[in-house]
Amino acid sequence: MADVFNWQLGRKMRYRFPEAHPEWQFAAVFNINRCIACQTCSMACKSTWTFSEGQEYMWWNNVETKPYGGYPHQWDVHLLQMLEQVNPGGQTWDAANKDAKTAPYGTYQGMTIFEAAAKQNAGQEALGYLPKDEDWTAPNLYEDTARNGTGDLRRPKPVSLPEHETWFFYLQRICNHCTYPACLAACPRNAIYKRHEDGIVLIDQSRCRGYRKCAEECPYKKPMFRTTTRVSEKCIACYPRIEGADPLSDGVPMETRCMSACVGKIRLQGLARLNSDGTWAEDRSNPLYFLVHVERVALPLYPQFGTGPNVYYIPPRWVPRPYLRQMFGPGVDDAIARYELPSRELTAVLQLFRATRTVIFRYEIQEGPKVRDVTVGGKTWSLYNDTVVGFDKRGREAVRITVMEPFYERPSDRYINSV
Ligand code: SF4
Ligand code: SF4
Ligand code: SF4
Repeated sequence: MADVFNWQLGRKMRYRFPEAHPEWQFAAVFNINRCIACQTCSMACKSTWTFSEGQEYMWWNNVETKPYGGYPHQWDVHLLQMLEQVNPGGQTWDAANKDAKTAPYGTYQGMTIFEAAAKQNAGQEALGYLPKDEDWTAPNLYEDTARNGTGDLRRPKPVSLPEHETWFFYLQRICNHCTYPACLAACPRNAIYKRHEDGIVLIDQSRCRGYRKCAEECPYKKPMFRTTTRVSEKCIACYPRIEGADPLSDGVPMETRCMSACVGKIRLQGLARLNSDGTWAEDRSNPLYFLVHVERVALPLYPQFGTGPNVYYIPPRWVPRPYLRQMFGPGVDDAIARYELPSRELTAVLQLFRATRTVIFRYEIQEGPKVRDVTVGGKTWSLYNDTVVGFDKRGREAVRITVMEPFYERPSDRYINSV
């Protein structure tokens, strides 16, 4: 057992293995505000990786409706309740004590799933449970079902920002390729490993014996047992694309299937360079670094679990804050405030979402003219038509896009659509 540093918690915590961090870490930002739950991402993953016998129930990418939905059912509610039973009333944060690099959200004062398991002393590395078969039966139960503040679903109240009384939102979920994976710590066969080159977490199919400890102890419930092969499987982060080995990738990292298929343009995926202690190395022009560490509009999912998830979310701005603080930690209020009145640079960087399937390692902004002033919540905000340019791993230009949608006028001699 070792003491490791978890920057998302602003403190050290116990983990089965000592610190050993990859050079680059697979990471992504999902903008919840834009998701339309079309499930194109889910189908892109399924049609690529989980279309065979024994994989019918596997949705490595799923999109669930919160607060009631979840796949497996109520996965997060179960674990939050278990954590509360082990450490009643203790899951709190000291949000006043912040450090931009080592404690951006403050310090977590509660127990992680690793610490709770140690207190419980029930033979687990991480607190967890094995979902029942019926928990996996319906991948999208409670789709579009709203939480109603009045308690009467037949007569929802009218709504207005900043928080709606009647609300739901879509939560997009893949494996988080965690910094301290609970699945990896749980495996008695040491069949799970984290790759040095990109931090992707994989299950070695030849070592796995199907004990399902990963399925039990991953807090996000992303490893799944396959009855036809008797071993477990999980999201592989489409690693041939990350390696630049896909024939379409031109030898440079390319976004995964679920990311590049996203219709709502809510996803931006990339690679973050790490320091030896697992914190992100300063990389001001990497769009992920900018969103997570400079603007801090994107937050980890249930950071209190302690695994250091590497998928970050821009929280939905209409949802009651206590619910969001439980899900994304105490950085929620600042993140929403920055997203509602975005800086000039953030406005430009948000255009990079789904603008290319090439992974962007660096961006630069070419300033354009002011378009107009906009008033939001009594505050005035200026919109500029800047151009953002994204570069691939070799420094080649991969995309160029303006803040304003270009306007084209059809020539008068081509006034009919056909012919
Ligand atoms: S493809 Fe994009 S918009 Fe559609 S459900 Fe998936 S994340 Fe949401
Ligand atoms: S999300 Fe679960 S399966 Fe994925 S790396 Fe983290 S602990 Fe492992
Ligand atoms: S990264 Fe690849 S394997 Fe993982 S959920 Fe997305 S499409 Fe599936």
